[in-house]
Order: sequence, then C-alpha cells, then structure tokens
Amino acid sequence: MYNVQSIRQDFPILQTEVFGHPLIYFDNGATTQKPRQVVEAMVQQYYTANSNVHRGVHHLSVVATDMLEQSRETVRRFIDAESAHEIVFTRGTTESINLVASSFCQQEMQAGDEVIVSCMEHHSNIVPWQIQAQRKGIIVKVIPMTNDGILLIDEYKKLITKRTKLISVAHVSNVLGTINPVAEIIRIAHEHGIPVLIDGAQSVPHMPVSVRALDADFYCFSGHKVYGPTGIGVLYGKREWLDRLPPYQSGGEMIGTVSFEHTTFNEIPFKFEAGTPNYVAATGLAKALEYVEKIGMANIAAYEAELTQYAITQMAQIENMRIFGPMPNEQLPDSKGIITRGSVISFLVGQIHHLDMGTLLDRLGIAVRTGHHCAEPLMHRLGIEGTMRASFGLYNTHDEVDVFVAGIRRVSKMF
Ligand code: PLP
Repeated sequence: MYNVQSIRQDFPILQTEVFGHPLIYFDNGATTQKPRQVVEAMVQQYYTANSNVHRGVHHLSVVATDMLEQSRETVRRFIDAESAHEIVFTRGTTESINLVASSFCQQEMQAGDEVIVSCMEHHSNIVPWQIQAQRKGIIVKVIPMTNDGILLIDEYKKLITKRTKLISVAHVSNVLGTINPVAEIIRIAHEHGIPVLIDGAQSVPHMPVSVRALDADFYCFSGHKVYGPTGIGVLYGKREWLDRLPPYQSGGEMIGTVSFEHTTFNEIPFKFEAGTPNYVAATGLAKALEYVEKIGMANIAAYEAELTQYAITQMAQIENMRIFGPMPNEQLPDSKGIITRGSVISFLVGQIHHLDMGTLLDRLGIAVRTGHHCAEPLMHRLGIEGTMRASFGLYNTHDEVDVFVAGIRRVSKMF
C-alpha cells in the first residue's frame, strides 16, 4: 500500500503555511523537496566524515572517498548501469549535457555534421548544441511533434542522414509531460550507428529507468529533482564512449601524471571530474535514491499516474480550460500500452495571463510554475507565450488536487 501520509512526515517543509494556507507544492518539475533522511545524511557527513576525497591517506579522507564511491555504486544500481566507472558526477543535467556537447563535438564532429534534438527540449538541451554550431559549424535539426505533443517518429527517421552524429532528446517533457518513446528512438539511431543522449531530468524522479534496457549511450539527470540536494547530477556514459571522449574540464583529479611537457589523463570516470567533487551532495543523492527505491519506483510511477489522471479529469471540467500535451490514456501507436504522460500538467484558462493566475494561486498557498519553463521554442510551436504548470511529486495528494482545482475556479471567477 502506498502510504502518502506517512511519506509526507519525512518532508518537514510540507508543514509550511503560505499566506495563512497550508503549502501545496506543485512545482516538483523545477525542484523537489528533501526528506529528513537526505538532509540528515549530509549533516552527519559534515559532522563526522568531512574530508577532501581521493587525496589523502589519513582516516577521514579514506572514509569520505569510500562514501563517494559507494554513492557512485548506488547511482549505478539505481539506473542499472553495468559499471560504476560509467557514472560521472556533475553539477546536474545542464552540466552533463554541456559535457557531452563539448567533448563529443570536439572529437567526433566536423563542420556540417548534424545533431538531432526534439522540438520539446529544455534550453539546456538546445543551447549547448547551438554554441557548438557557432564554434564548429555543426547543424542542429529538430524532430517535430503533433499538436498534442507527441513526437513524429516518421519525421525523425527522415531527419537522419550520413552526417548525423548524435541524437539528444528528453525522456519526459518538462512542459507537456509527454513520455517520449526513447527506446524506439535509440533503436532507430543505432540502426544507423548513431549514439543517443537522453535527458532524464524529468524521468528519473518518476519512473524506473534502466540505461541498459534502453541501450542509451548517454543518460543524465539532476539530484535536486529526485529529492536529493542541489549541485549534484549524473552523466551516465557507456564505457566505450567515455573512454573515447576527451576531458571536459581540467585540473586536479582528472590527470594521470603532469609535467610541463606532457600530461596524461586519469581513467574514467575521474577523467571527467576535475577539481574537488561535491562529495557531500553525492552522499545526499545516494540517500535520496535509496529513499525512493524503498518506496519503489514502479509504485511511485503508478501513484503519480493515477494522481495526474485524477487532476486532469477535474481540471478539464473547468470552463475555458486548455491542457497541453497528450491525455493520460492516449497511447502511441507502437507503444505497446506504455502511457505517454508523466506527472506534469501545463495549462491556461481562457485569456487569463499565466503570471496573474500563478500569483493569485500563490496567495492561496499553491505553488505552481508560470512562464516558458525554459522551453521557448516549444512555446513558439504551441503559439503561446507561457503556461501555468502543476508538476507532482511522490508526496502530493488528491486532497491537494481538490484545493488546487477549487483555487483555479476561484481565481478564474475574479477575471
Ligand atoms: N532538462 C529538463 C527536461 C529539465 O526539466 C530541466 C530542469 O528543469 C533541465 C534539463 C535542467 O536541469 P538542471 O537545471 O538541474 O541542470
């Protein structure tokens, strides 16, 4: 049994009041709240096991290093990678994508070579490629979608040419909630010998992910969106790719030997981890992953899918409500029954500006996101400036959805 009330006890911030109302936190797509277990593990490390890692022979350094490497192993297990060497700690999804864009383009791409992204990408999976386009003359191509936010796989196939060197797409859209058929996208790319990077920022917190089952070449996510701390994220890369790519940043820890004449690089993953890593955040991330693992990712996915379905059904009854993205029961023709929507609901009501409604909902204690959600090209595609976005986490409840829906009705009447 999924015991949401007991889960809520682990998150002290959920007891907060905002403008005299109990906080309803529906901005989990931006960042999630942290359970005590995560915060306490980090405090504990600062109090008892703080030391720089991979550097000292002294006791504390050995303990801190062991903890970091255990955290790496926890991440490996969580995303089902083959080896902990394939887990690079970064600052988050953004840095992970920048790492691949920089290292991959430097070595594997020439002017005129192509990278394919989708039209529903977050800016962090668009701008790094555009910068490489400016620097190296690579070309960025875009997979289009239907009006209700489903990628057009036939169009994707047509975009692939002999010059296509990499595909980079989001597993789940942070605006539309669409769960993209990434296994299919990867399979098609591999038929052409093209590697694929998956942006898992919005998938890893909400569903079981196996990088091996997907056969992803690169996969990344952010700790803070999966109930862990800020400042830590992950880049998974298949060993053969990480071995092959050049370093991203340079300095301490990423080297083998250094002389003024010649420097060699460390083995993976350390080759990509220049400088002191955020080892305390890594401990927090591992704790967060253990926390969600204990509840069960499949249980979380099922609970959130039902909550999302419930919310959409209630919201759809509001006059002039416009919900973006696929409906929960809509299925891709070739998806073999896989639901196509995660727990993100972007919406607009009539002509009410998203900022106005977001501000008034906040007065009722309801935290939703407003704006373009770092996906301006997607807003252009939808012909809008921005939306409100409710995004659920494992601790949200049906009662909260009821208050939220009543809040939207109340605010709508004011206009
Ligand atoms: N990709 C997607 C799909 C996202 O939703 C986000 C954040 O909202 C990011 C990338 C960037 O994540 P971060 O800011 O943690 O690097």
